Amino acid sequence: MHVLILGGTTEGRLLAGLLDGTVRVTSSLAGRVAAPRLPAGEVRIGGFGGPEGLAAWVRRHDVDAVIDATHPFAERISFNAARAAATAHVPLLVLRRPGWVPVAGDRWHEVGSLEEAAAALDGLGDRVFLTSGRLGLAAFADRPEWFLVRSVDAPDAPMPARSELLLDRGPFTLDGERGLLARHRIDVLVTKDSGGAATAPKLTAAREAAVPVVVVRRPPVPQGVPVASTPEEAAAWARALAG
Ligand code: NAP
Repeated sequence: MHVLILGGTTEGRLLAGLLDGTVRVTSSLAGRVAAPRLPAGEVRIGGFGGPEGLAAWVRRHDVDAVIDATHPFAERISFNAARAAATAHVPLLVLRRPGWVPVAGDRWHEVGSLEEAAAALDGLGDRVFLTSGRLGLAAFADRPEWFLVRSVDAPDAPMPARSELLLDRGPFTLDGERGLLARHRIDVLVTKDSGGAATAPKLTAAREAAVPVVVVRRPPVPQGVPVASTPEEAAAWARALAG
């Protein structure tokens, strides 16, 4: 039994650790992060060349099942995985951590895209904590506000005109996030609904400080593909296939 995990997430790495030793596991990473945390088992890095390339890779490497454990906002690879699995006739499971849910005291502004997030900043304050990742920075390029941009690696795209870059990778602590909001006198937080515990403390810190949060909603999971919400659930799915 050979399982291909499309990874790039904490959950993908945990899943590889759960399956390694019971089935053959290959994790695939896009290669975006300079020094990724490597999962257990075999690892390959780089794009496949669209859904056809992924289907061909699956066939060539005798993959019996694919688990799409990519980030909830990695929309293209999830779409490609659904197409490739159908073409290569292998079962596909999506492993997606649950999204965040607002609680009492949260001041969320939910939007459908980074462009909408940029527009939603009107009137919310001058000092923005931008945590939506380095790839979508272009949407904020023409905004007049000051931005604290936090990302794992330095962005290629130009930063907003008034900004400071903070290179850091989660998990983040509540105390750390409280300190950051206070030190930089943050008026508004921008985040994708990535879900998960590693980056959730910023939401608690924002709630405590009555800081509004612009939350970009997730794209949908490809139609008809089953979804697991934890690595354990996904591992059970793969083990059941292996018999
Ligand atoms: P994307 O827009 O969905 O994918 C763009 C292209 O990158 C895909 O068409 C594919 O190239 C390649 N690719 C993506 N994930 C891959 C993987 N796991 N293995 C091999 N190739 C992959 O993806 P993205 O938003 O740029 O994210 C890239 C990676 O970073 C993902 O693996 C994701 O899990 C991780 N990540 C993304 C975010 C985010 O906010 N988007 C945050 C944290 C981590 P080909 O078509 O050539 O196969």
